[in-house]
Amino acid sequence: MKPERFETWLTVDRKGLYCRPGGFHIDPYGGAKRAVVTHGHSDHARPGHEDVLATRETLAVMTTRLGTPATKGAQAAAYGETIRIGDVAVTLYPAGHVLGSAQVLIEWQGARAVVSGDYKRSADPTCPAFEVVPCDLFITEATFALPVFQHGDASEEVAKLLRSRAQFPERAHVVGAYGLGKSQRVIALLRQAGYDRPIYLHGALAECCALYESFGVRLGPLKPATGAKREEMKGEIVLAPPSAIADRWSRRLPDPVTAFASGWMRVRARARQQGVELPLVISDHADWRELTETIEETGAREVWVTHGREDALLHHIKMTGRKGRALALVGREDEDQ
Ligand SMILES: [Zn+2]
Ligand SMILES: [Zn+2]
Repeated sequence: MKPERFETWLTVDRKGLYCRPGGFHIDPYGGAKRAVVTHGHSDHARPGHEDVLATRETLAVMTTRLGTPATKGAQAAAYGETIRIGDVAVTLYPAGHVLGSAQVLIEWQGARAVVSGDYKRSADPTCPAFEVVPCDLFITEATFALPVFQHGDASEEVAKLLRSRAQFPERAHVVGAYGLGKSQRVIALLRQAGYDRPIYLHGALAECCALYESFGVRLGPLKPATGAKREEMKGEIVLAPPSAIADRWSRRLPDPVTAFASGWMRVRARARQQGVELPLVISDHADWRELTETIEETGAREVWVTHGREDALLHHIKMTGRKGRALALVGREDEDQ
């Protein structure tokens, strides 16, 4: 018999989303006994859990960033491999968000719940594509859950960057991109577009790029920006964390064109406010169409929204005859938009 009410076995406590019959949290805030972690961004992968289950890639990201992913034990699961935890079966599926990112399917007494973490549906050469997992309850984020958000084709944004470079051969192009996921995706898209020159990296991005390469993601020639001569940087592409593009750091570059790769660059005012000359709409999160189509495709009769702009999405969920609920998890969106 299917348990009718998901609230009776999937609850929210001060550490976040908790699966009662499994005895574990998903992406908990820290210090959980058992944690299943969807991906390595710091708003999902936090330190101090006793036991962690995640993909091998996510565990490697956690080891790189936190030192140790778990105080007692870390268990790696391959995509599609089912693991029993307590009374439930847990299976990870690709989320298409960053290297190692996973959706978590939890099966209990015939009911199927999917916690999707962060995800996107558009192509990304650096990680396996999102897989639709049929379920009764789908738990989704809502970072870009407004119809105005349409991310478009990321390769067109990269073409824009290359055109600007051709137009200003005397200037460096400094592209703000988050360390885990976005910067590797921008590099891979540049390579796909045939750009084979060395790409210069701010020191903060080097570690994650090395990690991607250790998992077989080819990024081509990369060079540290630190120590490179001003003259040498003319006409080159430099990647840096978003905080560095408007900072003293970028002043060493020859007359830099500042670009920023983010889903938020759809909002012109935000680009202007951040002093971004060349906004590149490249997002690792689902846009409005991807969110609503994914909900449809999973066949879920109930949808819970973890965080973001949940009002419009909840309205849509109700209008399409589903049950909706806002979880309003705090502390998300720290890192990766
Ligand atoms: Zn994320
Ligand atoms: Zn997130």
